[in-house]
Amino acid sequence: MDTPVLPAVKEFLSGPPGLFIGGEFRPSADGATLPVLDPANGEQLCAVAAGTAADIDAAVAAARAALPGWQAMAPSERADLLWRLGEALAERADEFGQLESLDNGKPLGESAELDVPLCASLFKYYAGWVTKLGGESLAPASGMPMHVYTRREPVGVVGAIIPWNFPLLMCGYKLGPALAAGNTVVLKPAEQTPLSALRLARLVDELGFPPGVVNVVTGDGPSAGAPLAAHPDVDKITFTGENSTGRKIIAASAGNMKRLSLELGGKSPSLVFDDADLDAAVEGTFGAVYFNQGQCCIAGARVFVHSGIHDEFVARLAERVAEVRLGPGLSDESTMGPLVSAEQRDRVEELIRSGLAEGAEAVVGGDKITDPALAPGFYVRPTLFTGATPDMRIMREEIFGPVAMVAKFDTEEEAVDLANDTAFGLASGIWTRDVRRSHRVAAAIKAGVVWVNTYGMFDVAIPYGGFKASGYGKELGREALDPYLQTKTVWVGLS
Ligand code: NAD
Repeated sequence: MDTPVLPAVKEFLSGPPGLFIGGEFRPSADGATLPVLDPANGEQLCAVAAGTAADIDAAVAAARAALPGWQAMAPSERADLLWRLGEALAERADEFGQLESLDNGKPLGESAELDVPLCASLFKYYAGWVTKLGGESLAPASGMPMHVYTRREPVGVVGAIIPWNFPLLMCGYKLGPALAAGNTVVLKPAEQTPLSALRLARLVDELGFPPGVVNVVTGDGPSAGAPLAAHPDVDKITFTGENSTGRKIIAASAGNMKRLSLELGGKSPSLVFDDADLDAAVEGTFGAVYFNQGQCCIAGARVFVHSGIHDEFVARLAERVAEVRLGPGLSDESTMGPLVSAEQRDRVEELIRSGLAEGAEAVVGGDKITDPALAPGFYVRPTLFTGATPDMRIMREEIFGPVAMVAKFDTEEEAVDLANDTAFGLASGIWTRDVRRSHRVAAAIKAGVVWVNTYGMFDVAIPYGGFKASGYGKELGREALDPYLQTKTVWVGLS
């Protein structure tokens, strides 16, 4: 059965607010709009304003104008606003969850019970930091008669550019630490999933954040993202998305030497040793690959299994994958929703075809959806490959869809080499009962996160971010505040 759409969600969809600039909702400068589609059936849900460079200019000017007031506000007052934003969001988990599921396609249980509460707790966590961001007093090594201290100052105006896989959560990842550190923000949501960011903007407005502290400009990458990344009056860009876009953002930032934090793609490995708890490893690997329809930057989809347990592992994982029930995010029956867009579905299907053409075997899936009830939506059949070799495209390129590749290894050394055979370095998983091996392998893997006998765990207090081509600058935890602050050193002569 489908969960009935809440009146508040219907009302929102009947006329979503425009761009949120300087505390006001307005149409884009040229009046253009972007359609927002329901990935479960391809139909239009609503349309939102399509911002361009002129709107970015206005939003950056509003953010700049709001900066002195926001910084002068008592830290306890800023903390209070952030805390109340977290509270208000948690109180509206059903509404935000529905909006997110309609817009992105993910099952309601995940959006309302994971994404929204985690985003709410992010605002509360960073509210706690606002009153604790001091510098330090330092003693010169030479013994010079000087009083030296540091101040931790906000970087200024932050441009936040986010993707479509966790649309609301990504708003929290960026806004939480940026605002806590005293910056003002221009947020550019993904064009595929702008709704929860606009709903959040309404909440920001209702809660009485000063105008211009948070601005939201919806629009596509070239028209709205690129001018934000290149804007001479933006001090920092925090970006989550594809590597190719990350490279463009690095180039665009050179003009005024913007600070950058980049959370990019991944091709994460899961290593299953022959002493692993197999039940836990199968269930954990299933979640590592197929959660969020596989549209997770951390997806542990390169699964390397010891040859002694390979066949049994594949048989059990295949059974688990075959249990998936595809359907709309708002249906109680669905355990997996559609992908976010027709473009993403086509990309994933093309990679599945490449895997078959290059000789991998699809133990489950691999075929197109033909069920007439699903075909108009952007669904992809969850797929499990065996026999994938390191040179295949499915083993090298990020798929960002419900596709796992299982391959064999014989020794620990070989497993580590296979795990590290990628340009990316975002995350990884190890399944073993040997505590010594778990620490040895964790140290040898070149990735920003290692999960041992678990996968995909996140917590507001625990830092997260990639190595190598997966980007730089941590998110979550205390460390996520650092990229939003700059240290000023003050020397005071005492003689
Ligand atoms: P994308 O790079 O296409 O888009 C991300 C954002 O960038 C969107 O808002 C888009 O409009 C904007 N954009 C596009 N072109 C731009 C340009 N030239 N200048 C400025 N902005 C531009 O990525 P996507 O397809 O939306 O998201 C999927 C990618 O995100 C995957 O590669 C995934 O791994 C990555 N991702 C990474 C993490 C992480 O934490 N490492 C988390 C989630 C997603």
